[in-house]
Amino acid sequence: MASLLITGGAGFIGSHTVLVLLEAGHELVVLDNFANSSPIALDRVMELAPADASKRLQVIEGDVRCAEDLDRAFCAASASIAGVVHFAGRKAVRESVEQPLLYWDVNLGGTRSLAEAMGRHGCGLVVFSSTATVYGEPEVFPLLEEMPTPPVHPYAQTKLAAEQMLAALVRSQDWRVASLRYFNPVGAHPSGRIGEDPNGIPNNLFPYITQVAAGRLERLRVFGDDYPTRDGTGERDYLHVMDLAEAHAVALDHLLQHQGAAQVTLNLGTGHARSVLEVVQAFERATGISIPYEVLPRRAGDVPKLEASPESAAQVLGWRASRSLEQMCRDGWAWQRANPNGYQ
Ligand code: NAD
Ligand code: UDP
Repeated sequence: MASLLITGGAGFIGSHTVLVLLEAGHELVVLDNFANSSPIALDRVMELAPADASKRLQVIEGDVRCAEDLDRAFCAASASIAGVVHFAGRKAVRESVEQPLLYWDVNLGGTRSLAEAMGRHGCGLVVFSSTATVYGEPEVFPLLEEMPTPPVHPYAQTKLAAEQMLAALVRSQDWRVASLRYFNPVGAHPSGRIGEDPNGIPNNLFPYITQVAAGRLERLRVFGDDYPTRDGTGERDYLHVMDLAEAHAVALDHLLQHQGAAQVTLNLGTGHARSVLEVVQAFERATGISIPYEVLPRRAGDVPKLEASPESAAQVLGWRASRSLEQMCRDGWAWQRANPNGYQ
């Protein structure tokens, strides 16, 4: 089993992936500055992980933009780091429009300093967190990886630029890189011990719905019912965060077994877009709790629809998302109900 560096491993997707990688037997170093997460997430991961896992996880508080922090992380493992999963970054579209320099700094600058540290420590293998928003406002579905990528906000622009920077290292230095374009990860580990813990009022649909169900918010605001979609509300390709976490383990295995330079760019989604109202109905069916909602105008920056073709991921990695929308709702609700204030 490999020694791996996981940047941003305390975050939503990172914490679920750390658990899956510990279950697979890997030794991990997590580097996180806790800008958008709590160290408690990793304590909870340890409760769920196999008994011997405490010997295989080290947590370093530090910033991916800082060479010294990165060097500390690379030197923390008992064996040299064979690969990196790079989650650390910022992910809020509106924030990226308001603070573009922050996004270029953390998302691109952070990836550049990480790549430099990888060079210093003789590691050329990375799984990178990219996003479906690189496709801009597409009109043809399902989305294939080779379709145009005209990103429309700094968040997507910085992720696409980081993908391109890593691709250049594949060409020039035989790196092995997987850029994974996530669609809409939701849900939580079925134990309800780890999950998504947004700051303040949630931006995203799923945590908003679970907080309405918990009585913390009065009603869901549905942003627009006049889109050119099945029922007029926005459609997205939601996938269970545990499916996504497992995809990282498979992508790492794929790269670790590959001889020589490798570059894969893959959509990670189910291939089935669901409307906002379909998600509300699925949540009500899965939990028996009704979700009051009102329809508001469209939210600035939202696109009508995103839907992955999951075929490349299936062909290249042998991975498909397997958990249902009902399971995403059930597990997301179990986490919210047991942790009304997140990790606090
Ligand atoms: P998250 O905010 O929960 O996790 C990101 C983690 O990175 C957090 O623990 C945060 O503290 C850490 N971090 C941020 N800046 C850092 C820095 N400078 N140095 C060290 N650590 C830092 O987000 P997430 O939902 O788990 O997303 C993980 C990655 O996946 C992000 O790069 C995000 O852009 C990308 N992504 C997320 C989604 C989504 O819907 N959640 C979709 C597509 C892509
Ligand atoms: N949405 C909504 N109300 C909310 C949050 C989101 O109607 O409170 C809609 C949004 O317009 C989009 C879908 O739900 O059509 C998914 O939005 P989310 O913010 O979860 O993901 P993203 O915009 O990143 O795809």
